Amino acid sequence: MVVGDVTTGTEVLVIGAGPGGYVAAIRAAQEGLDTTLVEKDAYGGACLNRGCIPSKALITGSGLAHEAGNAEFMGVHADPAVDMGKMIEWKDGVVDRLTSGVEKLCKANGVNLIEGEASFVDEDTVRVAHGGEGQGSETLSFEHAVIATGSRPIQIPGFEFAEDHVWSSADALDADTVPDRLGVVGGGYIGMELATTYAKLGADVTVIEMLDDILDPYEDDVKRIVRKRAEELGVEFHFGEGASEWSEAPDGGYLLHTETEEGEESSYGVDKILVAVGRQPVTDGLGVGNAGIETDDRGFVETDDRTRTAVEGIHAVGDVAGDPMLAHAASNEGIVAAEVIAGEPAALDRQAVPAAVFTDPEIGTVGMTEAEADDAGFDPVVGEMPFNASGRAMTTGHTEGFVRIVADDETGFVLGGQIVGGEASELIAEVALAVEMGATLEDVAATVHTHPTLAEAVMEAAENARGQAIHTLNR
Ligand SMILES: Cc1cc2nc3c(=O)[nH]c(=O)nc-3n(C[C@H](O)[C@H](O)[C@H](O)COP(=O)(O)OP(=O)(O)OC[C@H]3O[C@@H](n4cnc5c(N)ncnc54)[C@H](O)[C@@H]3O)c2cc1C
Repeated sequence: MVVGDVTTGTEVLVIGAGPGGYVAAIRAAQEGLDTTLVEKDAYGGACLNRGCIPSKALITGSGLAHEAGNAEFMGVHADPAVDMGKMIEWKDGVVDRLTSGVEKLCKANGVNLIEGEASFVDEDTVRVAHGGEGQGSETLSFEHAVIATGSRPIQIPGFEFAEDHVWSSADALDADTVPDRLGVVGGGYIGMELATTYAKLGADVTVIEMLDDILDPYEDDVKRIVRKRAEELGVEFHFGEGASEWSEAPDGGYLLHTETEEGEESSYGVDKILVAVGRQPVTDGLGVGNAGIETDDRGFVETDDRTRTAVEGIHAVGDVAGDPMLAHAASNEGIVAAEVIAGEPAALDRQAVPAAVFTDPEIGTVGMTEAEADDAGFDPVVGEMPFNASGRAMTTGHTEGFVRIVADDETGFVLGGQIVGGEASELIAEVALAVEMGATLEDVAATVHTHPTLAEAVMEAAENARGQAIHTLNR
């Protein structure tokens, strides 16, 4: 049906149904605002369809196969075979359940859903193209808008994505066969999560990274543990090299060519090349300029701590608004945007936004590192608990890593934490709560923790910072 040029109105228009957009829309509707959510592709955005959820499904599947095949030390003998087609089918089932859940939740909360691609006509109107032959478009006017159009993988020159040889992260999450040799360009969190996954599925993985280490934002002793474990899984690292081009190899595979800053060239034989060098905001086709919105030199929409752009009534949340480009940050921003629109005194507090890397072992961080606390003028006190002193870690067979807690010596306030080890992505939530609540080391140390659990290590780290650790030597 061609809707034609009839203009309908909505109080709140949300563009993009990823974790930023759908959460903003649901909260706006809960606030009693007439809310419309426009999505051009699939409910749940990158997170549910080709990011967090599918990657974690494959990490679980590959991890299970690897664990079962490597548990002779605890008397378990198994030689698991992975049916990749079945694993992908299972992963797709998880994605389908979640994405249809998002659609149902939106409807149940009274959000009007429109499928199509939105682009601004001016600062209070968008045109939504329904796509497809004869589908037409419609015009919507709004009082407030939330741009939540997310991000896409960055392509590097000469490495245009093509499923048969140059993979984006989305391709790597959909492949139903495991390549014998996988070249990964980029040692950031997406590259490292997928490198670990594919190494566990049996691929020979080579990581090419321009910098001199993986996982740039993390502390040296945190990344050292992840790098060492990846090497044990057979991942080969080449640092200080940039991917320059690829060519076909006589063996039917490909050669991944690299170059150092000094011009030294190397090539590596691979069967697929995964390019994971970061993500860029999706603003093309959105006509932000028509609404008077400017983007920064990397294309991100600039916002203040209440998610407001420079144009009255228009907000931006999630990846399109820049760092931290994480699903939970997007959702948090979505809630703030909706509440600000509803006239509530909401604002972003970036201090307690945790981050997790689902490598083996996992990394979880929140708040300040010791160096950051120092730079911010605190007198940091640090406590640590290594997992090799944790009874629960020993019973899981994974004792690498540690919990580190950073606090202000004068007040005892917990300022941050860095965890590397099993379940770090879950454990960091406790430190995040402490930072958010303004809890002190004493609060954490005095909280009785279940035994035997990995979470006890958080309590022990807090005790260690206070010079009162029982199970480790005090610093
Ligand atoms: C492989 C991978 C693994 C990841 N793992 C994690 C993780 O473990 N934890 C984590 O926190 N984050 C992770 N992320 C990042 C996370 O996916 C993003 O931070 C998150 O999806 C951002 O949410 P968003 O709502 O801003 O945008 P998106 O999820 O990108 O959603 C934007 C939506 O807008 C739609 N859209 C775009 N333009 C228009 C338009 N003009 N009109 C209508 N609709 C439009 C798109 O189709 C899309 O559905 C991962 C990402 C990848 C790629």
